[in-house]
This record gives sequence, C-alpha cells and structure tokens, in this order.
Amino acid sequence: MLGLGRVEIPVLDEYGFVALVDVMPRMVPVAGAGGESPLGDSAIVQAARVSRAGGTKAPGDDRVLIRYLMRHGHMSPFEQAEVKFHVSMPIFVARQWVRHRAAHLNEVSARYSELPDHFYIPRRGVIGGQSRANRQGRDDALDADVAGRFRSWLESSSARQHADYTVFTGDNVARELARLGLPVNVYTQWYWKCDLRNVLHFLALRMDRHAQWEIRQYANAVHDLIAPLFPFTFEAWREYEVESVRLTRAEVAALASGASAPPVIHENQREQREWEDKWGRVREYASGGRTLRA
Ligand SMILES: Cc1cc2nc3c(=O)[nH]c(=O)nc-3n(C[C@H](O)[C@H](O)[C@H](O)COP(=O)(O)OP(=O)(O)OC[C@H]3O[C@@H](n4cnc5c(N)ncnc54)[C@H](O)[C@@H]3O)c2cc1C
Repeated sequence: MLGLGRVEIPVLDEYGFVALVDVMPRMVPVAGAGGESPLGDSAIVQAARVSRAGGTKAPGDDRVLIRYLMRHGHMSPFEQAEVKFHVSMPIFVARQWVRHRAAHLNEVSARYSELPDHFYIPRRGVIGGQSRANRQGRDDALDADVAGRFRSWLESSSARQHADYTVFTGDNVARELARLGLPVNVYTQWYWKCDLRNVLHFLALRMDRHAQWEIRQYANAVHDLIAPLFPFTFEAWREYEVESVRLTRAEVAALASGASAPPVIHENQREQREWEDKWGRVREYASGGRTLRA
C-alpha cells in the first residue's frame, strides 16, 4: 500500500465525497511470498497468529484463517487494521454516521469558519413518498409535480437561509449563533478514522436497505474504497455476516418442513414479517439472486 495517494469517490452531488486518506497496515509482506495476502489482510492474520506464537503456516492459510475468525466471531484481530477517510456530507447524514461510537473524528467548526452555500438538494429520482410499510423509510414513487415543488422549495429556502446567514455574520453576529438558522441539508466535513472491525459493523448497518438512501451512498463509497485492500476479510464478511441469514430454532424447523410458503410461526407480527423476509432471502440466495446493495 505504500506510495498510494488519496483516493476519492464523489457521492450524492458536486459537494459530497468520501476520500480514503490513510490505511494501516502500511508495512505489508511482499506479494505472494509464503502464500500470504500482500494487502491489508496481512495485519489481521499477523495479529491472530501471535496467539499461536507464529504457529504453522502453509500457502493459502491466510484466507482460511480469516474465514475462521469471521465465522466464529473472533473479531479482535480485525481491530488491528485501521482506515481514515475525509468525508463531505450533509449534516443529516453526519448525524446518523456519528452514532457509530467506536471511531475517531474531527469535524469542521462552524464556530471558527463560515459555512459555504453548499446544500444537498436530492435529485428527482430519489425523492420518494412516505413508506407505508416502514415508518422510517420512503417508497420509490412520488408524484412528479410534488417532487418538483419539493426540490424548488429546498433550493429557494436553502439559498435564502444562507443569504440571511451571511447578512447576520456581516452584521457581526457570532458565527456560532448565525449558524442556528441553517438547515440540516447544509454540508459539513470531517476526518473519520476507524478500525476495520467497526467499519464492517458500520457498513453492515448503513449499506442495508433499512438505512436512509443518502447514507447508503456514503457507506457504498467507503466499501468500494477499502474492499480491494482487504479482499479475504470482505469475502468472509459477505459470506458469514451480511449475506448470511440468522434463523431461530422454529424457523429452521419451518424451512426444513418443505412448506411452499412461510408458515405463521411467530405470535409477534413484526417478528413474523421479519421471518417472511428471511424466507424470501433464503429463496433468493437459493436462486442466485440478491446482493448486498439494495
Ligand atoms: C436503519 C437504522 C435506523 C436507526 N434508527 C434510529 C433511531 O430512530 N433513533 C436513534 O437514536 N438511533 C437510530 N439508529 C442508530 C442505532 O441505534 C445505533 O446507535 C447506530 O446504528 C450505531 O450502532 P451500534 O450502537 O451497534 O454500534 P457502534 O456505535 O457503531 O459501535 C460498534 C459496537 O461497539 C460496541 N459498543 C460501542 N459502544 C458501546 C458501549 N457503550 N457499550 C457496549 N458496547 C459498545 C457494540 O458492540 C457496538 O455494536 C438507527 C440505525 C440504523 C442503522
């Protein structure tokens, strides 16, 4: 990984991005020597092997070891790798992202600096209606006229709020107060550093279709920037975490019964719906469909 510069992926619009700015391990084995992974995975197997005082090792062991660690939830070796990003995102995305506590960040100070007039205005195609099935979600379709009026309102109100903001900072209102009038679609930036274990947790939650579409785009970019650096880890993570299905005892029995549709096995309606969703996922996997990205 030595010699690699900043790698940036644009997200949402001309203001949003995720840039990978640093990665640990920086010192990695020579490619192919001894069959180990030449990339970031090497830090994970290096740490895991200390418990066996080096242990025996044959070509191909690294991938097998990483799969074993992931399969059995031995996650501390994945904390030996770290990644650091420079991110530009709307404040409402930052508020969701910052809930992931096992990370370190430094954010631009709107007390210290004036915020530029960078606002996220969703494209028409991603403006959906309130979801009927999920109180936290949105559906695909929304009347084009309503979507258009919503965009215009966001554009004009954001521009007006920023114009007023600059009037008041010009009148010497402290920046820490003037910012109170800015909406949550204004852009902020931070440097975010996190170990790989917790990045995987972040990705599992935020690439999932239950997460808001906007933060999903950021999570996808984080994934795309680092997955090639930790190929064995991401392969195992997809296999044993995100694309696995966790079944209760009753659900295993129902699947094994050979029923053609998911039987009612849960009294709780929500759990029953989740079971029906799992049933669908099992069928989709069986037919080769469905990937991580919704
Ligand atoms: C789809 C979705 C909807 C959400 N809706 C809401 C909502 O309506 N309201 C809301 O407030 N939040 C909401 N959240 C945020 C959510 O509740 C979590 O705060 C967020 O996803 C961070 O995940 P986490 O707590 O598992 O772990 P992180 O903070 O990412 O930490 C990683 C892991 O470290 C460990 N850890 C971290 N801190 C501690 C600790 N203090 N003690 C013990 N273990 C710890 C845990 O194992 C944890 O899983 C939502 C998240 C998602 C993905």
